[in-house]
Amino acid sequence: MQIIHDFDVSPWQYYLNGQDNDFPALRSCPRCHDEMLGHGFYQRYIITEKNRSYQLHIKRFKCRHCRRTVSLLPSFLLPYFQRSLKAIFTALYSYLVKKQYTLEQRQLHTYLRRFLDNLPGVMSFFRDKICSRLKFNCSQKKKAIKLLESIKGLPSPTFSQRYFDHFQKSFMAL
Ligand SMILES: [Zn+2]
Repeated sequence: MQIIHDFDVSPWQYYLNGQDNDFPALRSCPRCHDEMLGHGFYQRYIITEKNRSYQLHIKRFKCRHCRRTVSLLPSFLLPYFQRSLKAIFTALYSYLVKKQYTLEQRQLHTYLRRFLDNLPGVMSFFRDKICSRLKFNCSQKKKAIKLLESIKGLPSPTFSQRYFDHFQKSFMAL
């Protein structure tokens, strides 16, 4: 499983820090609550909003009792997406507001579908947590734009992490 953690550094700084990022200790196993031990790193790619790509070190832990592994995903990434959170937001927003494709069309529409499928969760998140002033009696597209604007008003890693903590899945999950 993955846990989203805000390292409070840019993707590029995280990359430069390599295995020396400020990795928190994970004290207890999410399944059996026994002790978690460091379990090395794996590498995964990020593609930024400027279409640059590089490999990041992702820290892993393993439970000494039930052997479950947990990885610590920086909050500028989403589980299972190579593109950064910012790249995805930027692409969705440019398309919805300006009809501009900053990504290949097919990919953009896959992202958009995912985001729209999760819209009810995103709306309830904002209703619960942040803003009860949003009006939801408008079209799905308008809702999507309003929500992207609300999300953009927050530091986006914070949104992603809080959403994940709240629902135990990402706002772009299947
Ligand atoms: Zn365990």
